[in-house]
Amino acid sequence: MKENKGFTLVELLVVIAIIALLMAVLMPALNKARAQAQLIVCRNNLKNYGLAATMYLETHNDKFPFPLTCIYSRATFTDEHPWECRWHDAGVVPDGPLWPYLSEKGVHCCPTFAGIAKTRGTNHPLHIAGIPIKPSFSYSMNGRLSAGDSISPLADNLGQMIGLGQVRHPARVLFFTEENIWIIHRTNGDPISLSLYALNDMYFGTVKYGNGDCIASFHKANDSKLNTGVSNVLFIDGHVDEEKPYDEKDKILGYSDKSMKLTFGVDVLIHGINY
Ligand SMILES: [Zn+2]
Ligand SMILES: [Zn+2]
Repeated sequence: MKENKGFTLVELLVVIAIIALLMAVLMPALNKARAQAQLIVCRNNLKNYGLAATMYLETHNDKFPFPLTCIYSRATFTDEHPWECRWHDAGVVPDGPLWPYLSEKGVHCCPTFAGIAKTRGTNHPLHIAGIPIKPSFSYSMNGRLSAGDSISPLADNLGQMIGLGQVRHPARVLFFTEENIWIIHRTNGDPISLSLYALNDMYFGTVKYGNGDCIASFHKANDSKLNTGVSNVLFIDGHVDEEKPYDEKDKILGYSDKSMKLTFGVDVLIHGINY
């Protein structure tokens, strides 16, 4: 009688082929599940930003903190540690007025963003070479909540800080959101770029006619089509929604349409201007 110990080469090859087939079938589903889990972590991060900001507002007469310096104070900005690199600069300690309400939570970086930033962070147009990319912040505050009509985040004026009561529709105005680390170029020879000047720098400033900031596009997008997805957006009323960076149908020259609407809201009175 023939003894049959172990597997023959053919049997092994068949088993390996089946495993490879299963991997091929399961991997997209696993990747999708992981992306979905990361989206939920990110959404939860922003909800925590909303809770922290609510606590801040309650103890500051409902006045918003200045967006550019709410996490890192002005004193931390130096030539060696420029504010555009704060999101990945481990060499500076956060000390801004909103920080005491957030520091313990560990909710400052979207896992999807962190993964992308590790490989693309040095491509950031404003990156200063020599500061290692250690993504630790991925949320930017709506600059229009306190910067008045100035489009320069550095031209802050604490007297211009607005109050919660001046935002007519808190459910429609962006509070904190995500930004990309690359410029979005529109298609078909369109010269418009979105986020030309500042990308993920913890300050979200849109410009009415020009290349302003633009919300992120990397969630729910393929690795090869990172401009096609959505961003998580925290609104002033505390809810978080997914939003696409722009609507093709609203395309106007030099106008970051969707992001512009989200920063000003609809029918929102800021500094006497009805946006
Ligand atoms: Zn995210
Ligand atoms: Zn940098």
